[in-house]
Amino acid sequence: MIITLKKDARLADIETLTENLLDEGFHFETVQGHHYTVLHVLGDTTTFDAKKLYAYDAVERVINIQEPFIRAHKKNQPEKTRIAFDTFTIGDRDPVIIAGPCSIESEEQIMSVAKTVSEGGAHILRGGAYKPRTSPYAFQGLKLEGLKLLHKASKHYNLVNISEIVSVNDLPHFEDYVDIIQVGARNMQNYELLKALGKSTKPIMLKRGFGNTIEEWLMSAEYIMNEGNENVILCERGIRTFETYTRSTLDISSVLAIKELSHLPVFVDPSHAAGRWELVEGLSKASIAAGADGLMIEVHPNPERALSDGAQSLKPQKFTQLMESLQKIIAALK
Ligand code: PEP
Ligand code: MN
Repeated sequence: MIITLKKDARLADIETLTENLLDEGFHFETVQGHHYTVLHVLGDTTTFDAKKLYAYDAVERVINIQEPFIRAHKKNQPEKTRIAFDTFTIGDRDPVIIAGPCSIESEEQIMSVAKTVSEGGAHILRGGAYKPRTSPYAFQGLKLEGLKLLHKASKHYNLVNISEIVSVNDLPHFEDYVDIIQVGARNMQNYELLKALGKSTKPIMLKRGFGNTIEEWLMSAEYIMNEGNENVILCERGIRTFETYTRSTLDISSVLAIKELSHLPVFVDPSHAAGRWELVEGLSKASIAAGADGLMIEVHPNPERALSDGAQSLKPQKFTQLMESLQKIIAALK
């Protein structure tokens, strides 16, 4: 950490600062420049709130060099996190494909999508049962009944399943019927939920909040890992910008940033980012080319009649086409 002192700092104020730094267990070197006096502070600052130093009269600027996340950081674990299932591993070379409807709507619908995505080569069946909808009047999901249908469809087609949790109260149902628990963008900073999921033995997919930085996202992963659950998968789903043509702006650079900073696998959800099915194939290819560990894609047998997110859902045939075109990108990367 580097602290620049104010030019006119009083000696007594500098001493208050340096004494408190020593009390916190830090060492420091003083560098006296022409214009500024700088303190090079040495010691582990990962759990230290550097911003609180602005409370001191003598401090002009603080630069914290160390990232505030520990368990999610590559420094702590240079090898990539791999999460193994019976037939595939997340975090291995081959991208893992999650596909399915936004919401589970009926047995017929989820069975039909499960068949499509399984035949297309997807590994994981998605389906929302507890839906965090913007409007309280919009379809809220089939809840426990939906989880049971998702479980039935995924087991029938030998797929792993994933579904979004919105409340800690529902966790027992997820433990019973769901293989991977999804935390949606809206709950990325619901710390009580994250802490509860940190005690689960299920892998957690943590989507990036649409107004959150990469550092905040990794700090949320840290909440889960700090409770003992190391199996965290990140998912970029677009962030909010001034652009309105797309639903969100897909931040492909976050895939590369996560790879620089963390050992955790990172997926991309082009469906929620784009909000339009026409863009999904191109964004999927770009994401895989950028090094994403997998994709989450919404598929519906009849998007025109979907109870949620029909505009961004692929029809079965389009999904099959996407899977075929992805193979070319995957092969080119090998
Ligand atoms: C979803 O995947 O169903 C969903 C609601 O996505 P997000 O949390 O990214 O908006
Ligand atoms: Mn959706």
